[in-house]
Amino acid sequence: DFVLGIETSCDDTAIALVDRDGNVAGAKTVAQFDIHAEFGGVYPELASRAHLEAILPTVDSVLGATGVLLADIKAIGVTRGPGLIGSLLVGLSTVQALSFAWGKPAIGINHLRGHLRSVDLEEKRLTYPALVLLVSGGHTLLAYSKDKWSFELLGTTRDDSVGESYDKVARMLGLGMPGGPAVDICAKQGNPAIRFPKPMIKEGYEFSFSGLKSSVARHLENNPDFDVNDVSASFVASCLAVLSTKVTRAIKEYKPASFAVVGGVAASPQVRQAMQDIATKEGVCLCLPPLKWATDNAAMIALATWDYLDQDIQTGLEPKPNLRLGDA
Ligand code: ATP
Ligand code: FE
Repeated sequence: DFVLGIETSCDDTAIALVDRDGNVAGAKTVAQFDIHAEFGGVYPELASRAHLEAILPTVDSVLGATGVLLADIKAIGVTRGPGLIGSLLVGLSTVQALSFAWGKPAIGINHLRGHLRSVDLEEKRLTYPALVLLVSGGHTLLAYSKDKWSFELLGTTRDDSVGESYDKVARMLGLGMPGGPAVDICAKQGNPAIRFPKPMIKEGYEFSFSGLKSSVARHLENNPDFDVNDVSASFVASCLAVLSTKVTRAIKEYKPASFAVVGGVAASPQVRQAMQDIATKEGVCLCLPPLKWATDNAAMIALATWDYLDQDIQTGLEPKPNLRLGDA
């Protein structure tokens, strides 16, 4: 049996078929970088229009490529939030129609729970109690999780997320979209010699990244002949210092069995390496999503759907743009 997962919360139209064990039978993502590039960020109206054009052909293409029959689909899971309301609505209303036409149950899924479940795709990794670091475009938070459905929020960001600051620094450096991977590549070739601040590094589990972003902007103003690679490397070094310090603090305090790093920024090789170093040093099992399932995708939404089915958690197909990690 498979769950059909559908993800349209931001600028990717993603469809996947996933079985109960997290094996991905087929998946396809249609990205919108070209559409939004000239705006330097996601333009919501254009995003929902692009989802509308892509969604049904992409469903057909995944079903066709895998040869999975409707009879083998147990349910449809679709992101209901958090995300852009217009984008969410395209996925939700499409699923409402498919559910009716096919006679299959449809469940609205929390996108953040999807990111968390991404670590169990292709192979079961997560054990509890777990420390969770969610680093994505919209979120930067640390949570402690005793079991699948309980979350204790340890701290979150007061302003920008890590991913957002990668994207903004990329824009200042003229690296275009998507910004995170571009900064990451430049950083690898640079020398982290510029001393940018490491905001709130001494304080508990709260984060703040807008000051770091501003000091990068000031540095660029004051040094017109800046080196893109060195600025990137120095910015990344500050981010990693903050993330590593807080994560180490939390591992020492909570002594989790495993430590999961999820969200788009978990696609960064440098972030993955830094987190692996900590996990090895602290003797905790690191759970990372396979690289291709770190950024937004539908496989993680489909796998999360199995949890809702197992617990018989019913959610509607109304958009919930402000869902939080602990919500169903
Ligand atoms: P959320 O999941 O919080 O609702 P989102 O879905 O928009 O937000 P994700 O797709 O999870 O965000 O993550 C996108 C973010 O990940 C972007 O900010 C992007 O810059 C960042 N990112 C992606 N790849 C990399 C990379 N290789 N290095 C650093 N950052 C990356
Ligand atoms: Fe996401």
